Amino acid sequence: ETMPETSTKRVLLAAPRGYCAGVDRAVIAVEKALELHGAPVYVRKEIVHNKYVVETLADRGAIFVDETDQVPEGARVVFSAHGVSPAVRAAAERRSLQTIDATCPLVTKVHKEAIRFARDERTILLIGHTGHEEVEGTAGEAPEHTIVVNSPDDVDTLEVPDPENVVWLSQTTLSVDETMETVRRLRDRFPALQDPPSDDICYATQNRQVAVKKLSPECDLVIVVGSANSSNSVRLVEVALQSGARASYRVDRASEIDEAWFDGVTTVGVTSGASVPEILVRDVLDALAARGYETVEEVRTATEDLMFSLPREIRADLKAKE
Ligand code: SF4
Repeated sequence: ETMPETSTKRVLLAAPRGYCAGVDRAVIAVEKALELHGAPVYVRKEIVHNKYVVETLADRGAIFVDETDQVPEGARVVFSAHGVSPAVRAAAERRSLQTIDATCPLVTKVHKEAIRFARDERTILLIGHTGHEEVEGTAGEAPEHTIVVNSPDDVDTLEVPDPENVVWLSQTTLSVDETMETVRRLRDRFPALQDPPSDDICYATQNRQVAVKKLSPECDLVIVVGSANSSNSVRLVEVALQSGARASYRVDRASEIDEAWFDGVTTVGVTSGASVPEILVRDVLDALAARGYETVEEVRTATEDLMFSLPREIRADLKAKE
């Protein structure tokens, strides 16, 4: 008698995953600032929402602070990829800080839209998570004109000064599907609702969601590498579950993988958020291989080649050194 054929354990590895152009640029900006000027270099908030990245930069001499009033007068400070409000820029100026702005250009784009709409006296319905640094920065461009909409259910209770003069914008790292649902409900309530000139949810967020959507129906388990405060990483868990993964968990690193997740699991999906270095994914793949998930198939839904030039303050300092 032959043994019944056991299904082969395998890993489906999402592509694209991990670092986006904005994160890459922000991390290099801090590294270059340390190289050019020596430690310490202050960074307002986590440069990107990843524990490992923050710890690694802190080891090299970056000092992470919550607000610019914790930075010594005249010192150098990097603004994180999530962007800052004009109030933060003004506070930094009052302390004569030398600022390096690592705001992702795709976040800056949303700021510019907010400024323009506020100038036209429109009410901006900013879809995003209250308390997230990016939302604080964008809303801070026009606090009098902005209302943050956290979820589709928020729409029913919204009050706006003039329903004929409303426009929506969004955080860059939301779930595409949930945002479209929010917009649909906003339009039901405010038929005159205007759309932003282009997508605010960035290419990296969208691409990572498309890839995880593609592999999830085949997965018994999807592991998302990313930190708890990383919006786009947390969304990937939700998207995996909504697209048919039987289970999905987020881990900061391989050591957080739980033995109990593998009961009856044949196919494991793996992806990572836009702030996650590839080394952390490699560690997860090693941990899976050790449990018998050795075959790795890449599921690629897009190719990315976008790169941003470094913040202009860094470019100027590099040039001066030549
Ligand atoms: Fe920029 Fe998108 Fe990356 Fe955020 S996730 S840093 S908006 S590219």
